[in-house]
Amino acid sequence: MSRRKGDQLPVAEPSSTSSLHSDPYASMLSRFHAAAERLGISTDEIQILSRPAEIHIAYLPVAMDDGSIKVFEAYRVIHSRALGPGKGGIRYAPEVNMREVMALAAWMTWKCAVVNIPYGGAKGGITCEPKKMSTGELERLTRAYTRAMSEVFGPDKDIPAPDMGTSAREMAWIVDEYSRLHGGNFIPAVVTGKPLELGGSKGRVEATGRGVTTVILQALQRMGRRPEGLTAAVQGFGNVGSITAKYLSQNGIRVVAISDKTGGYYNEGGILIHQAIQYRDTHSGVLDGFKGGEPITNDQLLTLDVDILVPAALEDQITPHNAANVKAWLIAEGANGPTMAEADSILNEKGVTVIPDILANAGGVIVSYYEWVQNRRGHYYTESEVQERADNTIKQAFDDVFTRAAAQKVSLREAAYLIAVEKAARALRMHGKY
Ligand code: GLU
Repeated sequence: MSRRKGDQLPVAEPSSTSSLHSDPYASMLSRFHAAAERLGISTDEIQILSRPAEIHIAYLPVAMDDGSIKVFEAYRVIHSRALGPGKGGIRYAPEVNMREVMALAAWMTWKCAVVNIPYGGAKGGITCEPKKMSTGELERLTRAYTRAMSEVFGPDKDIPAPDMGTSAREMAWIVDEYSRLHGGNFIPAVVTGKPLELGGSKGRVEATGRGVTTVILQALQRMGRRPEGLTAAVQGFGNVGSITAKYLSQNGIRVVAISDKTGGYYNEGGILIHQAIQYRDTHSGVLDGFKGGEPITNDQLLTLDVDILVPAALEDQITPHNAANVKAWLIAEGANGPTMAEADSILNEKGVTVIPDILANAGGVIVSYYEWVQNRRGHYYTESEVQERADNTIKQAFDDVFTRAAAQKVSLREAAYLIAVEKAARALRMHGKY
């Protein structure tokens, strides 16, 4: 395993070109620099916060079922520990790369700061195709990753969680392997999003989708609109997209379109979400061939004539090329980084309200925090206790962001970055110089 310090990395300045090259780190940096400039934070703090604190890379040899060895590239990036231990999920996907994981780690710092939970930001990723791997191969890969990162992870150091392509099953393997490596004591607080039987929290699986729905309802209330009769399109049908779609329809919002990477489906009368979830769960985790709507493309979904758009798939979906054609007047970012920074001003000028990722999808890490607290106290909350706490926390964060946006006449995204960057910079100052 090689270890590089962030200060040796070339970190691009915000780009002013309109190239469509997908670089989520550039989007993150451009919003960070805008907030840093407005706040007037020092160049010392800018230097530190514009780079990851640590990048860990490992090449993991894994025995495949056919007897061959395959080497997987794996990362763990700690963006900042200024506000607490590193926190953030682990992504298993074919397109995972270091710049993406760097961006995702930084977004975790801003996200935890916006919703006021005492964590820094981190993220992990392994370039692999989990849907094409057997359970045994995935278990060996996850255990190899945990061994490689055994001195990086820790309940007070860096706490992983699920992200795209991982779930409670992988978290169970991590807690098992980590506990074996650290003297055999059961150490559940090293990872969140675990199965209930191994110290997971009630409400964790639904937490992100529930949070997305809560902030949408909160925004509608502020706008004086009722949810009943509004329409929504949801891009992505993994944990976040499918659960958001379910909650939105339970709240009277007609979800007319859904999609995953195999394509999209449109039904003017509303997609039956429980049917779509059942279809996905019985068809290798994808919607391919779903008959509950007319087939559409992912690009068509983004520009449908709906009230609410929830991008809950990958980064860089709303671009300077398609932003002008977005017809929704409310966007809630279920995914991390679904809007390129270069599309922000187009959406702002059109008067679209965007609830930014670092606020909209924070419900997951909020309940991860409660899981960690429960593990450390050895006392477990009921589902309604978890939900009530999480709802209140994200509502409070929404109000803080909304108030700041109104006071400074900026977008919700700019306000969220102002709150987060200010908080991290203040914490850095308190840590002192070393
Ligand atoms: N992967 C989720 C996110 O992007 C959850 C992270 C966590 O719970 O630590 O926010």
